[in-house]
Amino acid sequence: MKAAVVRDFTAPLTVEDRPLPEPAPHQVRVRIEASGLCHTDIHAARGDWPVRPSPPFVPGHEGVGVVEQVGDQVRHVHVGERVAIPWLADACGRCDHCVTGWETLCLQQHNSGYSVDGAYAQYALAHGDYVVPVPDGIDPMDAAPLSCAGVTTYKAVKIGGARPGSRVLVSGIGGLGHLALQYARIFGAETVAVDVTDAKLDLARELGADHVVDARTQDVAAEVQRLGGADAAISLAVSNESFTAAYGALRRGGVLVLVALPAEGTLEIPVFDTVLNGTSVVGSIVGTRQDLAEVFRLHALGRTRVIRESRRLEDVNTCFEEVLAGTVSARLVFDLR
Ligand code: NAD
Ligand code: ZN
Ligand code: ZN
Repeated sequence: MKAAVVRDFTAPLTVEDRPLPEPAPHQVRVRIEASGLCHTDIHAARGDWPVRPSPPFVPGHEGVGVVEQVGDQVRHVHVGERVAIPWLADACGRCDHCVTGWETLCLQQHNSGYSVDGAYAQYALAHGDYVVPVPDGIDPMDAAPLSCAGVTTYKAVKIGGARPGSRVLVSGIGGLGHLALQYARIFGAETVAVDVTDAKLDLARELGADHVVDARTQDVAAEVQRLGGADAAISLAVSNESFTAAYGALRRGGVLVLVALPAEGTLEIPVFDTVLNGTSVVGSIVGTRQDLAEVFRLHALGRTRVIRESRRLEDVNTCFEEVLAGTVSARLVFDLR
């Protein structure tokens, strides 16, 4: 089978022919149809973060495909079912985080395309209990971006407490942001979209953003404060300055939800303002299997639109360059059918 492999953090990925992987008793083998390119895959391939994956590895945690083989112990997934392989490859299922609805915080978790091989391949192995069924009627090319960009922003918008009458700032209208904006609207919030390219600002308008701010030419914090400030700011831009701008855009009692993970990501916040303003800063990491099931249901109901372009896995390296250049409409998805 064909797979894109990271062999070295400083070298391009290689597209290789690998043996078909054999599922262990708890695993399924998925014939991948669609595999989304998350900015996280670029961080993974470059070793950007303090905890690094170990090359060689296959990136990809927005994998969608059909189950082709199941291990002896797999009970809830069947051959022929379409499933998603998200970032949370598996967790222990027993710790306090796992049993209280916070499996994404499990200390013993594995991560697809990071600590275990992911979905930049024609076939991938996954834990039978941690794949998420994709409802009939959802195009696999849409399901792929929903499996990370969708679930992550759905969760982040929930954490931000979006509700009718609240104002939500979405910083970065890329793969994640174009979906964050839609979830904030679904939750009934007034929305402010921020980006640094004309195409993304146009996309935000098209998706119904109430206000659009161009961080190249406008002072984001000042513009949003003029509107009354943001109750929640969802930080999705891979830029430290954007975190400071989003923090500055909060109204009293507001919450900054950190999601983007730049290399050397840091945010300095003034203690006095944070205390006096009752501001919160919280991190948000992907979402649970249940969150993803909800994301799929909303999409099946026609409530969300996935903006994506299809690509060949062979072009993975130029695809990374496109994402870094900011020229992608929102998400790139490898079509492996
Ligand atoms: P992306 O490249 O598709 O989108 C980033 C967007 O930010 C682009 O539209 C870009 O034009 C815009 N941008 C750049 N500079 C900006 C600025 N100063 N102000 C406003 N917008 C700006 O990336 P993505 O796939 O959406 O991922 C975004 C980040 O989220 C990455 O760091 C990724 O690793 C991280 N991520 C985190 C989680 C999580 O669970 N916390 C999950 C998935 C991805
Ligand atoms: Zn991702
Ligand atoms: Zn656990």
